[in-house]
Amino acid sequence: PEGMSCQDLAAALALNDSEIVKVLFMKGIAITVNQTLDEDTVKLVCKEFEVEVVEAGTIRVEDLAKKSNTFIDDEDLEHLESRPPVVTIMGHVDHGKTSLLDFIRKTKVAAGEAGGITQGIGAYSVDVTVEGEVHPCVFLDTPGHEAFSAMRARGARVTDIAVVVVAADDGVRPQTLEAIAHAKAADVPIVIAINKIDKDGANADVVMQELSSHGLMPEEWGGDIPMVKVSAKKGTGVDSLLENVVLVAELQELSANPERTAKGTVIEASLDKARGPLATLLVQNGTLRKGDIVLCGETYGKVRALMDHTGARVDEARPSAAVQILGLNEVPVAGDEFEIFDSLDVARSKAQEHAEVMRQSRLAAQAGEGKVTLHSFA
Ligand code: GDP
Ligand code: MG
Repeated sequence: PEGMSCQDLAAALALNDSEIVKVLFMKGIAITVNQTLDEDTVKLVCKEFEVEVVEAGTIRVEDLAKKSNTFIDDEDLEHLESRPPVVTIMGHVDHGKTSLLDFIRKTKVAAGEAGGITQGIGAYSVDVTVEGEVHPCVFLDTPGHEAFSAMRARGARVTDIAVVVVAADDGVRPQTLEAIAHAKAADVPIVIAINKIDKDGANADVVMQELSSHGLMPEEWGGDIPMVKVSAKKGTGVDSLLENVVLVAELQELSANPERTAKGTVIEASLDKARGPLATLLVQNGTLRKGDIVLCGETYGKVRALMDHTGARVDEARPSAAVQILGLNEVPVAGDEFEIFDSLDVARSKAQEHAEVMRQSRLAAQAGEGKVTLHSFA
């Protein structure tokens, strides 16, 4: 009950650290992202996001379900259409996340596209066929370990399903539990991939036992968590894993309104020396089009080009699609939300407003610590 770190609170609410900083700053409280927040401050933030705090530090999971739909407004309700699930792969280091993603990318991305896949978009679309019906799914690449905790918040905010990879020769480890806790806090359904079943010493039963002792009961044992035995190396069980992802997605009845202007989250950003700022946007509602005026946190611009995960230029991106865009004035921050404006002037002034709030907040926090040094602003 002694409070919670800003980062943990952000993760529990499936928000960015910066959103917490901003909300508190608007209330006259300057904090840094590394700071521990006391109980009152945690409650203040939770109230702002309409989430109830049961005990200090415990946030009601039921309330978080509401958050995952923040991209849908009342006006969208009449125009909802189903959209593909957005899937992230999480798990302990070396349990096979990258291998599994690589296998899926190499073998499952629509034929003819695989050769042209560009590194760096951080997302790709896979068609999964179940009983003759094709179901598109969008997979997000997990970020590197160094960025893991900062990106966790982003992962939950954008993901509909978490595939948690557990190596059958190593079992449940700290980052396995962290991934599960995070998915649960954000109310994201979990599918377990018990990986490396090709290895000597692999024991899927032990993994299932361990997981059930942590509250995840396998479907096979009468529970509600799909657990699929796979080998990312050989490809064994990957089709079954994907089918389970589709089945879990269908239960969620994921939908969005493709007829409105786009809204969503920046999932990756970088500076290209020749082309300028590049950002990968995940469209979570609406349709993004060439020529749209977009605001992403402190950056803005007119979308000059959209590229899909093969690097091909496209004219539009519909709900659940991830596209790389050109045209922003600066490199945005991964995790920032984006929205569309009618006028470049309005987008510019919103971007400046946001930048000023963040600058003031950093200044105030540093001044409070008596540590305003030049390199603080590097
Ligand atoms: P990550 O850290 O979770 O991304 O794990 P990696 O995908 O990098 O895998 C870690 C190591 O485990 C690598 O040496 C992989 O070749 C190996 N590995 C991953 N999946 C399998 C598998 O299904 N079977 C076997 N035998 N090795 C695997
Ligand atoms: Mg990896």
